[in-house]
Amino acid sequence: MAVMSRLCAVCGAPFTATRTDAEICSGACRKRRSRAVTKAREEKAAADLARLLHLVSAALDESPSTKGMN
Ligand SMILES: [Zn+2]
Repeated sequence: MAVMSRLCAVCGAPFTATRTDAEICSGACRKRRSRAVTKAREEKAAADLARLLHLVSAALDESPSTKGMN
């Protein structure tokens, strides 16, 4: 079996991979990464919502009925 030296995708520590698709050194790092992915997903959802609210308020601001014809 081929043994490869890799760098962990989470903590950057070198580890010995026994599978070609291994990219994480330990169970702790695996957990850390899945938490990070969840957090990133939540942050993206929050950003999407904020953008949506901004678009809605911008659309309301641009409504002729609230600004008049100048
Ligand atoms: Zn690691």
